[in-house]
Amino acid sequence: MADAIFSNLPTTIFEEMSGLARELGALNLGQGFPDDPGPEAIRAKAADAVLNGYNQYPPMAGLPALRQAVAAHYAQAQGLDLDWAGEVTITSGATEALAASFLGLIQPGDEVVVFQPVYDAYLPLIRRAGGTPRLVRLAPPHWRFDRAMLEAAFNERTRLVVLNNPINPAGVVLPPEDLALLAEFCVRYDVTAICDEVWEQVVFDAAVHRPLMGFPGMRQRTVKIGSAGKMFGLTGWKVGFLCAAPQISRTLARAHQFLTFTTPPNLQAAVAFGLETGADWFTAMPRDLARSHERLAEGLRREGFAVLPSQGTYFLNIDLPASGVDEADRPFALRGVREAGVASIPVSALYEEEPVTTILRLCFAKRDEVLDEAVLRLAKARDLSRARF
Ligand code: PMP
Ligand code: GLN
Repeated sequence: MADAIFSNLPTTIFEEMSGLARELGALNLGQGFPDDPGPEAIRAKAADAVLNGYNQYPPMAGLPALRQAVAAHYAQAQGLDLDWAGEVTITSGATEALAASFLGLIQPGDEVVVFQPVYDAYLPLIRRAGGTPRLVRLAPPHWRFDRAMLEAAFNERTRLVVLNNPINPAGVVLPPEDLALLAEFCVRYDVTAICDEVWEQVVFDAAVHRPLMGFPGMRQRTVKIGSAGKMFGLTGWKVGFLCAAPQISRTLARAHQFLTFTTPPNLQAAVAFGLETGADWFTAMPRDLARSHERLAEGLRREGFAVLPSQGTYFLNIDLPASGVDEADRPFALRGVREAGVASIPVSALYEEEPVTTILRLCFAKRDEVLDEAVLRLAKARDLSRARF
C-alpha cells in the first residue's frame, strides 16, 4: 500500500500556482523566483565549466573549492568559524540539506518543534523520518514567538527545532533577542536546531541577519543550511550548503550519500567563483530588490491595499480584510489567477492547524512593468471579488 504521508499530500501550493500561471498566461507573483537572469559572470563560469571543465562525479561532500568558499563567506559575512573540511557539505539545494537533516537526525518518536507558517517540505519529511511535529503558530503582523509559546512546545522528547530565518513567507528578519530566547530553550532541552537560512543574503536596509549558530551554546548543536539559488538569484540551480559541527556533519553526510551523493560539479565551480567574487552582487542585489519592494508596495498602497512590513526575502504580504477584500486568501488567490491574470500565494497553505486565512504573499523580484501591471490586476481581482454576490 502507498505510504499515506506522501500519497495523501496535495501538489504543493508553489507548483499549483505556477502551473495555473503557465496554463492561463497569468503574471506570476506566486512562487519565489526573480525575473532578473542572475549574475552573468557566474552563469558564464558555469557554461565554461560544462564545456571545458570536469563533468564526472565530484567528491561526495562537494568540491573543495566550493566548501572553502562557503566557509570563507560565512566567516566574512556572519563571523562564523567553520572548518571547510569537516563542517561543510554541498547538497542539491537546501531541500536536500533539509531532507538529509531530518533523515539523519530524527529517531522515530522524536518531537520536532516547527513554526507555522511552515515551508512546504518540512512536515512531510519530518513525518517520513518518524518525527512528530509540535507546531508553534506565528501570526501577522509581527510573526514573532515568545517565551510562553516555546514553553508550550518544548519538552523532554524534543529532539530538533526547525527555524526558517529570514522567514518565508513573512519577510521577517528575527531580532537577536528572539534568537537568544530560542537558543536558551535549545540548550535547556539539549535540542539541535535545523536553521534554514536560505534567505540570509536577501535582507534590506537596516535589517541584519544573524545565524542562530553564533549564539551561546549553539555552535555544536546547530545545522545551518544555505542555498546558492537564493544567494545569486538562480533558483533553478539547486546548490545547497549544509554546515554543522564535525560529529553532526558525519551523520548528515551518511544521509546525503544515499539521497543524491553529489551535486553537478560545473554548478559547484560557478558558485565557488560567485562566492569568491560576489561582493558587488551582495551589495547590489538587496538594494535592487528593496527598490522593487518599494515599487510594488507603493503601487499597492495607491490602490488601497494594506501592505505588511517586510525586511527580507522576495516577498511582501497583503492583509486582505484591511485591503477591502472579504474573501479568504485561497479563493481570492484562485480568483486572481483565473479571472484577473495574476498569481500569488495564499499563506493559509503554509499552515497545518488554525490557518491564517487573511494574508496573500506576493513576490516582488520582478521587472517594473510586471509589478505595475500586477497591481492593476490585483485591484481588478478585488473588484470581481466584491461583485461576486
Ligand atoms: N527553504 C526555504 C525557506 C525556501 O524558501 C526555499 C526555496 N525558496 C528552500 C528552502 C529551498 O531551497 P532550494 O531551492 O535551494 O532547495
Ligand atoms: N521557495 C519558493 C517559494 O517560497 C518555492 C520553492 C519551490 O517551489 N519548491 O516561493
